Amino acid sequence: MTEKKQPSLTKRIVTAMVAGILVGSLLQWLMPIGEDFVIPLYFFDISVRGFLIDGVFEVIGQVFISSLQMLVVPLVFVSLVCGTCSLSDTSKLGRIGGKAIALYLITTAIAITFAIFLALLISPGEGVNMVANTTFEAREAPSLAQVFIDMFPRNPFSSFAKGNMLQIIVFALLFGIATALSGKAGERIASIFEDMNEVIMRLVGILMNIAPYGVFCLLAGLFTEVSLDTFGNLIIYFLVVFGALLIHGLVTYPLLLKVFTGLNPVIFLKKMRDTVVFAFSTSSSNATLPITLETVTKKMGVKNSIASFTVPLGATINMDGTAIMQGVATVFIAQVFNQDLTLSQYLMVILTATLASVGTAGVPGVGLIMLAMVLEQVGLPVEGIALIIGVDRLLDMTRTAVNVTGDSMVSVIVGKSEQQFDSEMYHDENAGRKIEEIDFHHLKGENK
Ligand code: ASP
Repeated sequence: MTEKKQPSLTKRIVTAMVAGILVGSLLQWLMPIGEDFVIPLYFFDISVRGFLIDGVFEVIGQVFISSLQMLVVPLVFVSLVCGTCSLSDTSKLGRIGGKAIALYLITTAIAITFAIFLALLISPGEGVNMVANTTFEAREAPSLAQVFIDMFPRNPFSSFAKGNMLQIIVFALLFGIATALSGKAGERIASIFEDMNEVIMRLVGILMNIAPYGVFCLLAGLFTEVSLDTFGNLIIYFLVVFGALLIHGLVTYPLLLKVFTGLNPVIFLKKMRDTVVFAFSTSSSNATLPITLETVTKKMGVKNSIASFTVPLGATINMDGTAIMQGVATVFIAQVFNQDLTLSQYLMVILTATLASVGTAGVPGVGLIMLAMVLEQVGLPVEGIALIIGVDRLLDMTRTAVNVTGDSMVSVIVGKSEQQFDSEMYHDENAGRKIEEIDFHHLKGENK
């Protein structure tokens, strides 16, 4: 093996993140939002906004996100089929599912309850008399019965095409169970799926290698627009949400992990770094899914039989960070509009926000749509969302990072409790590096 002098991938990705934020902010400072900077060349002028921000950054950033999303559906299907047929006893599925769903719902309820408490304590909306000038349409909250009915696909290919995660999960589980029960034919199919899984994980590794460029461009582009000046009297709201997100990610999760598994949470947080940066740059738990799955199975040691189920499920139904924003936002909007909420209304907020996250895929900005449902439930003006929309971009990035951390933590807890967990891999600092270190010379020469 050749000695590689270059820094580890994590270091490169984190450096790209910091560099992207700095370059974006610098460009914004040089060239305030809406303005342009033109560099005259011999025969034509180059517009920095047109060429760099709307050109290079936008193209590379979007191509990076698309290539992550490209992997989500095949990866979830293939790895979940593998996971299901490798479970020695498929009847365990009910228990694993039950544990995962219970943990996801409980952590979300904890998150939003804590957020509401913090917001009531700090009162970010007191004295803010703002007028909403945009209207925001609330969508109807789906009933629990409808969410359940919609989980079953009529046409799995249409679910694949639409990327409907819950339907894909249900189909993959059924397909996996049938494969496990099909004797010789099932074994042949299972081995094809194992091979496909290997190849797709390889593709995830390849993508990780181009991630520093993608992350840099996404963040540099974004930070030319995110302006702290517009925060004005929203700064306290912003800080409360941000603080609650940090506490949930850095205190609540580590505590829960320690209590449920006895594992060292510092290792967990360190291993989450890449995934957190991906989530932060893409604002989408769904797009980050390939990386979350890679981290949980190849670095933290959760067996694919568990992770292939819990991680995609989490990316769809578990949004603790989003719930935190909704808790604080509800209190904020109630205070701004001078409306007092009763205890039962707060309980309603907790229930609606927890249930609204089920069946809503983790994509950028979905939290605000869910917030509209929550506000409607307790009779608060939905236009209130227009007040906070300006600072939501940065919060969306941060809460997505919390969402994926929650998915990973629950996967580790369930994996450990089911003895589907490799403790040695969890404690190995270098675990997972091999699949990320790709020697592209193999494309030209012999195969390993
Ligand atoms: N962007 C978040 C996610 O993908 C959802 C949200 O809060 O808007 O997890």
